[in-house]
Amino acid sequence: MEKIVSLCKRRGFIFQSSEIYGGLNGAWDYGPLGVELKRNLKNYWWRVMVHERDDIVGMDGSILMNRAVWKASGHEDTFTDPMVECDVCKRRYRNDQIPALTPFRTLAHILFSDRDGNVREECATVGGESPKDVRRKARVQSEYFNLGWKFESVDLEPGHTNDPARCCPHCGGEISEPRSFNLMFKTYVGATEDESAVTYLRPETAQSIFVQFKNILEVSRKKLPFGIAQIGKAFRNEINPRNFTFRSREFEQMELEYFCRAEQGIELLEYWKEERVKFYENIGIAREKLHARNVPDEERAFYSKGTYDIEYDFPFGRQELEGVAYRTDYDLSQHQKASGKSLEYFDEETKQRFVPHVVEPSAGVDRSVLALICEAYSEDEAPDEKGKLETRIVLRFHPRMAPIKCAIFPLLKNKEPLVAKAKEIVGLLRPHMNIFYDESGAIGRRYRRQDEIGTPFGVTVDFETLGEKDAALRDTVTLRERDSMKQERVAIQELPAILRERIT
Ligand code: ATP
Repeated sequence: MEKIVSLCKRRGFIFQSSEIYGGLNGAWDYGPLGVELKRNLKNYWWRVMVHERDDIVGMDGSILMNRAVWKASGHEDTFTDPMVECDVCKRRYRNDQIPALTPFRTLAHILFSDRDGNVREECATVGGESPKDVRRKARVQSEYFNLGWKFESVDLEPGHTNDPARCCPHCGGEISEPRSFNLMFKTYVGATEDESAVTYLRPETAQSIFVQFKNILEVSRKKLPFGIAQIGKAFRNEINPRNFTFRSREFEQMELEYFCRAEQGIELLEYWKEERVKFYENIGIAREKLHARNVPDEERAFYSKGTYDIEYDFPFGRQELEGVAYRTDYDLSQHQKASGKSLEYFDEETKQRFVPHVVEPSAGVDRSVLALICEAYSEDEAPDEKGKLETRIVLRFHPRMAPIKCAIFPLLKNKEPLVAKAKEIVGLLRPHMNIFYDESGAIGRRYRRQDEIGTPFGVTVDFETLGEKDAALRDTVTLRERDSMKQERVAIQELPAILRERIT
């Protein structure tokens, strides 16, 4: 992960938000390459979910909505995570991030003088997976040092215990009882900051789909089953953002609400499993690193009749990319009840009126981008200018996802005809794809720079292109493929068609 995070920064995929001010925990900025990768992902999702289907339409809802939406959906009362706090260092954790049993605990006797110079004794329990007393001692000292205390001595009294009390992973301190913490960001609409002006930044895009269900049904004139798709920002005040962009406080979701009859729900839940796994394969994620995990009854929302997560083997463990839930008619019924407006569907054949059920595949843009980068990262060996093997960092993106599709190099930058020809090719390809022109440095170095950002193709304009060596090769170039490093000779005129076929 460290190598990936540093590559992301070095080459302009992802930066810390507000970095020059020390950053903001849980917020990230996508740089010039990151934004291309993210757009390619979102465009491909939109293409397969909306453009290539007759049964799904799109929408783009607002982030701020009437507070009543969040009351009716249940978010205001129940969109919470149980949170615990360390009594010593005051760090906060999500309850499920603290291991249930700490097999080893140590009693620390600390003699210190406080700010007034009085010598006092304090006892603290420190715990962890193994008796690494020295490290713990240092932690205890640093925590108390922060309070302005001067240490006289610290004695540790090691001992095993079966006491299932849980300890802070950072300092070993006691952990509080869990309490509920609402994950929605609260804000005020308008000039007065009172209760009547409260609303929230949306924690998911789905609710705007539910509340616009009737409008969209009317204008699109779709018959069940049909879906409404949306890509957009969501905000959650996560207790402990971590694993780079994996758990952020501001992120994007790609959500589909697929409406159906009650009797179709379970079957459609299964149908979307295959579709969604295929999607991840088609953007270049290996099948064997993808897993559909059935969410057991006790973890599932009470209204859901079946949920599974699509997980990916990240370098930090197997984690969720997407959740697919059969939400029954819960959401539409809640909004119908709270708003007093009918959200029913009228079946013209059977003349029945009913509230449709829904299956929701809900994917994270940022998590998928991170998975793409993790999956693509690799190191191999390639010859340098003198033919000596050196380590090469390659992002093996699927050409469909790669931020830059093709790089164009004149062999030498001080030979005008080579440069002119290369620029002509730039003009030829630019309307079709994102390309990059580079004339600086040795050609091997230029290839290496592109390998590192995952550009799948490289075109070199050389003296053969000018027809200087062999008239038959005039107006041909070498086309180099990133992964195999194989080079083929192709006619310039054929480049757009050849490349377009490989990148779509
Ligand atoms: P988790 O259990 O990891 O908190 P969740 O089950 O709460 O996720 P959902 O509410 O199902 O997530 O949201 C759907 C998708 O939105 C997730 O699969 C994930 O890809 C994305 N997502 C949710 N929370 C975050 C977050 N804090 N940062 C980045 N992506 C997120």
